Amino acid sequence: RKKQLLTLRDLPVQTKDGHKVALLANVGSLNEISHLADVGAEGIGLFRTEFMLMNTQTLPDEKTQYQFYSDSLHLMSGKVFTIRTLDVGADKELPCLPSIIEDNPALGLRGVRYSLANPELFMTQVKAILRAANHGPVRLMFPMINQVEELEQLFSYIEQCKAKLIEEEKGFGELSYGIVVETPAAVLNLASMLPYLDFISIGTNDLSQYTMAADRSNPSLTMQYPSLSPAVLQLVKNTIELAKSHKITVSLCGELASSPKVAPLLVGMGIDELSVNLSSILEVKSALRDISYQKCLALSKHALTLTRINELDDYLNGQYS
Ligand code: PEP
Ligand code: MG
Repeated sequence: RKKQLLTLRDLPVQTKDGHKVALLANVGSLNEISHLADVGAEGIGLFRTEFMLMNTQTLPDEKTQYQFYSDSLHLMSGKVFTIRTLDVGADKELPCLPSIIEDNPALGLRGVRYSLANPELFMTQVKAILRAANHGPVRLMFPMINQVEELEQLFSYIEQCKAKLIEEEKGFGELSYGIVVETPAAVLNLASMLPYLDFISIGTNDLSQYTMAADRSNPSLTMQYPSLSPAVLQLVKNTIELAKSHKITVSLCGELASSPKVAPLLVGMGIDELSVNLSSILEVKSALRDISYQKCLALSKHALTLTRINELDDYLNGQYS
């Protein structure tokens, strides 16, 4: 099976009737970047930059980060490269940052909240990324954002970063900007944020956690945190429709996209890009090449009428047996 899948590596990602989808990779280490070509990934849809901080006692400075992003960009040779700004918080212990104690880390100071509370940390990262963007295209996205004013604050810091780089006579490039849509508030407030954005990426891992009010890491909540639920599917649909009406590229980078049974449904709903684990790229590509876009549309039309978690599950499983 593995051998058979490998024959797909250099073939285009498209349905039987020629509907194209970008199939990108979720990356959490430098080592993974060097393996993108092994599975024919068309780029990176989610670069989790926290890993840079995982095994170090000291915070990497701008120069170290710049080197790191430029090296990564170089390996990408012009392909899509989407960097997510630090998504740290009490749920991730990082030896180089002071630990915070919170009763509810998932609802605490994480993602852009952490960045806005620690602007020097955010600005060091952004300056390094702006400088790296002098060598190739870079997309930047912000995690855990709820509100347009958070976005405006982030952009004002980015303007300050550019002014500093000019002052320091360091070259930099322009970025494309996006957000990870991963809270119900971000879905409901999307219209006010879209005018600032070039793309969005739906983070269904957290979107499910916050929509279902169920801890994504609690194994006794599998019914309350299913891989796919009608409520989350509705939010994904609303997000796609709104973004499309603003002609914004819609990506999806949660685990959901890594399922060969769910990926065709997402394509039928209008997703432009799927960002999946390296180990799932060829499986997802195979599923998309084996189905027609007409069928994807039919899948999504029917799935959106289902109101029960098990119905949705049975329906998708039944399509491929
Ligand atoms: C998500 O929340 O869906 C996501 C892709 O990000 P992470 O799993 O890193 O929170
Ligand atoms: Mg997330």
